[in-house]
Amino acid sequence: MGNRISRRAFMAQTALSAGLTVFASQYSGFDAPIYGAEDVPIEIERMKKKYGIAHSIAELTPTVCAASGVRAPKTCQVDKIELVVNRLNEAFEGKPAQKVFIYCGDCFGDVLLQKHPEEFEKCIAESDVVVKSVNVMKTVTPVCFATIFCGAGPEVHGIKVYEKPQVQAETLFDVFLEAGKKVAILSAKGNSVITIFRGRKIDYYPFPTDKEAYEKSLEVLNDYDLVVVHDCEHDTEMHKHGLDSPEAAAARRAVLDRWQATMAATDKAWSGYNRLYVFVTDHGSHNIDGGAKGSHGDDIADDAIVNHFYRWRKADAAE
Ligand SMILES: [Zn+2]
Ligand SMILES: [Zn+2]
Repeated sequence: MGNRISRRAFMAQTALSAGLTVFASQYSGFDAPIYGAEDVPIEIERMKKKYGIAHSIAELTPTVCAASGVRAPKTCQVDKIELVVNRLNEAFEGKPAQKVFIYCGDCFGDVLLQKHPEEFEKCIAESDVVVKSVNVMKTVTPVCFATIFCGAGPEVHGIKVYEKPQVQAETLFDVFLEAGKKVAILSAKGNSVITIFRGRKIDYYPFPTDKEAYEKSLEVLNDYDLVVVHDCEHDTEMHKHGLDSPEAAAARRAVLDRWQATMAATDKAWSGYNRLYVFVTDHGSHNIDGGAKGSHGDDIADDAIVNHFYRWRKADAAE
C-alpha cells in the first residue's frame, strides 16, 4: 500500500514538473484524490488574483534580462514587463543596457508611498516606469528576494518561510555571470540577499552596517556590470519602533537619499554606457502593538503590495 501511494504522488509530481495539468480523471483507477494545477495555483498567480494586481515582483528578473540582452533563467515562471523593455529598447535604439544597478530597499511597501508621497517625489520624477506589483507568501525577506531574483515563486526556489539556505534554482546572477558580466552584491553581513545567493562567482561585500554597504557601492561602479545593494535600515527601525516612529522616518529618508545618490553616481561613472537603474523592494509592513512596533509576513495588502521603479539613461553621445 505504501508503494502505491508514493508512486501516485510521483506520477502527479512528474506530470506537474513537466508543465502538464493533472486531472484526477486521468488516474481514475486510484482511490485517493490527485491534486493538480487547478487545485494548487502557482503562488505568484494566486497573489495577483487575490489583490487584483497585474504584476508580480518576480517579473524583475526576466525584465532586467531582456533589457540587458541576456537570456532569462530556465525556471522563470513569469514574462518580462513589455512596457519597460519596449520603452528601454526605443530609448537605446535597439541596443541593450550595458550596466545595471539594483537598489534593494528592504521593506518599502506601497503603504509608504501612500502615506508619504511627497518624500518619493524626486525619485518618481527620475523614474521612467513605476510598476505596482504583488509579492508572494510568506511576505518575508528571503522568500521575496528569492522570488525577485529567480523570476519564480516559492514552489521553484524552495524558500517558503524565514530561512536563508543557498538558492539552487537559476537566478538573474547566474545568467549574468554566464554572459560574462561582472557582478557585485553589497550589504550588511548576514542579511538575506548576500546570504541566499552565496556560492557563485559574485564579488560579495559584507559590512557591519547598511550605510557602509551603500557608501562602498559608490566606489565600485567602474569594476562591475551589475551592482546590487541590499539596504535593510528601514526594515530594522520599522520592526523596533513602528512604521510611524521618528526612527523609521529617519531610516526611510536615509534610504530615499541613498537611492538618489546611487542613481546620480551611475550617471557619472557609467555615462558612456546605456544603463538601467532599478529600485526594488521585497514587502511592505504594518503596525502591531498599537504602533509601538512593526511587522510583515502576513497575506494582507500592506505587506503584499509594493512598487518597483525602473529608470534608464542612454550613453552620452560624446563617448
Ligand atoms: Zn525584507
Ligand atoms: Zn522585516
